[in-house]
Amino acid sequence: MYRDRRVAALIAAGGAGLRMGGDLPKQFMRIGGRSVLARTAEAFEKNARVDDIYVVAEKERVEDCRAALSASISKLRGVCAGGATRQASVFAGLAALPDSVDVVLVHDAVRPFVSQSCIDRVVRLAAEKGAAAAAMPAKDTIKAARDGVFTRTLDRGELYMMQTPQGFLLPLLRAAHIAAAEAGFEGTDDAVLLERMGEKVHLAEGDCDNIKLTTPEDVAAARALAARADGGPDAFRVGSGYDAHRFIEGRPLILGGVDIPHDRGLLGHSDADALTHALIDALLGAVALGDIGGMFPDTDARYAGISSLLLLAEAFAAVRSRGYALVNADATVAAERPRLAPYIEAMRERLARAMGTAPEKISIKATTTEGLGFVGREEGVAARATVLLRED
Ligand code: MG
Repeated sequence: MYRDRRVAALIAAGGAGLRMGGDLPKQFMRIGGRSVLARTAEAFEKNARVDDIYVVAEKERVEDCRAALSASISKLRGVCAGGATRQASVFAGLAALPDSVDVVLVHDAVRPFVSQSCIDRVVRLAAEKGAAAAAMPAKDTIKAARDGVFTRTLDRGELYMMQTPQGFLLPLLRAAHIAAAEAGFEGTDDAVLLERMGEKVHLAEGDCDNIKLTTPEDVAAARALAARADGGPDAFRVGSGYDAHRFIEGRPLILGGVDIPHDRGLLGHSDADALTHALIDALLGAVALGDIGGMFPDTDARYAGISSLLLLAEAFAAVRSRGYALVNADATVAAERPRLAPYIEAMRERLARAMGTAPEKISIKATTTEGLGFVGREEGVAARATVLLRED
């Protein structure tokens, strides 16, 4: 019964990543706060079928790897020094495994997004059939070319892109490595070492996300995958704001940054622009940064009589610094008088300019309350705003 088999993961972390041109090999890069190697080891730590984890690293990095993993990887049984090539490193790792291991899963350290189900599939097939490897069907048409000219088109139905883990009964893989070493054969994966001995390696379905971090583009994709896996920044956030100010004689009426001719204005510490204040509160609310009173206290003399457009610019900068951009804003101003319709376009332009965005992203509507309430009695003006932000 395959569930009784002892399963060890052998993580090949020896590559120097020279193709990347960077100083730090990809397996030691940090993605979303954790090293790629730690993420890879965690995938096997989590898997119920895997009993032991071994890591093969460059000699100079063995101690670093042990220090980085020992606290979080309870299944870590050993970190050993690899050889000059990937194949030599895996060979060295196989020598370090105890004979009590039944199935060994060889896995690239730079494939941190292997799924639990993919590991399960490889373990099951390897335990039952002796040898299995994760692979994905080729998606693109694949052709051979020579001297800049295509020479033939390969049958895509027969083509697979190999991944890891590749799982084998331990004695079988050891024998294949010894035979390859004796023949001076260097393969690009472990499956080929069995193929050349006439052994059947069975196809286990891989994962689209099980990418190998090789190029800078892969690293960008890895950051997105890590954010998804870690439940990182939300793609979208919504916020709402409400404000009201009282009418008073002898002040200008400013709404949406526009000076509107009227016999009275609004009372407040700043210019009392209720519409802009509602928009600021919606923005701050969307990123849970408190409210306008917290960010711009009315006890602070700097904000006395200040244009609320400046406050809006500052609040929006705080939103941007949290990694969000505006999708759209929608606001309603309630005022019995004056009629606001003639000023709506100017308000949209002022508010958009303060946020460095396009007026098309900002909607403003005006309404009366048909004589009801404090707005209806012309005691003041009220405004509501809703914003949608997206991760940027
Ligand atoms: Mg206010």
